[in-house]
Amino acid sequence: MADEESIARPRETRLWATPPLREYSLALHGGAGGRIEELSTERRESFEAGLRRAYLAGRVVLEDGGSALDAVCATVEQLEDDPLFNAGRGAALAADGSVEHDAAVMDDDGRAGAIAVSRHAKNPVRLARAVLENSSHVLLVDPARDLATGWDLEVREQEYFITEARKVQLERIHALRLAAPRHGTVGAVARDRDGRIAVATSTGGMAAQSTGRVGDSPVIGAGTYARGDSLAVSCTGEGEAFIRGVVSYDIAARMRYLGATLADAVRDTVLAELTAKDASGGLVAVAPDGTVVVAHNSPTMFAAFEGQDGVVLLT
Ligand code: ASP
Repeated sequence: MADEESIARPRETRLWATPPLREYSLALHGGAGGRIEELSTERRESFEAGLRRAYLAGRVVLEDGGSALDAVCATVEQLEDDPLFNAGRGAALAADGSVEHDAAVMDDDGRAGAIAVSRHAKNPVRLARAVLENSSHVLLVDPARDLATGWDLEVREQEYFITEARKVQLERIHALRLAAPRHGTVGAVARDRDGRIAVATSTGGMAAQSTGRVGDSPVIGAGTYARGDSLAVSCTGEGEAFIRGVVSYDIAARMRYLGATLADAVRDTVLAELTAKDASGGLVAVAPDGTVVVAHNSPTMFAAFEGQDGVVLLT
């Protein structure tokens, strides 16, 4: 069964550590968020349905013997296509009303691909994966439309990505009637039947962010990281705090240099690195043995992972 622990200081951290339940493991997040009351029941149910669909999209890949990388990409793609989440279609809008995506993938061979300020690819996670597979680079900023089409990826105009709900959100932020809520960045980690681990993260960034701002998601070692001897991890929350704390790599370092378990490493990194006032967020992580850890110090975080009694949904 998933163990939940609460730590009182410096802000409440919630952490679930689940030992391997099958030959494969999968966990996803749908973004760190604000107060629990901010969602209506109907809206919460819609998010839960989206999380479940994405979880099943990844699980079917793993069940069929597919790779961890395929599974995290299938999971994240599903969430990118769901307008409720802050990734792909329905991503948060930058201050000028445009959509700029960040995404990254990494596997336990140390292969990584990432994109920042991406405006054309229908599924940013696919473009990040194409960088991993088709180029000798790790991170491309403002990748050209032709690059995506040259790699046989679908592209879309800005109108496809921009939803009414996001326009209203931006208007409210501009009118100073709403603090920008963060829910919706997406990410997944997986371990496949062959014991391989991988991670994918995708986001539109922070609502009303400056044009050209890059968050933690495509920064390897900050919001996204995988390493064969320690973990695969995807983060969500105030990107600047995760970059400053090099949060993903810090967790791996605690495992490698101190021999910490994944759960202890996550807890200690959150306590040590996410202490500033704006350092709110969470993560999903998997160890090479299949142990899954889900944690957040934000008031809420959307996530899905397997517990003893079936899929656990956090909203
Ligand atoms: N971490 C993302 C960013 O800073 C935002 C989020 O997770 O909601 O771009």
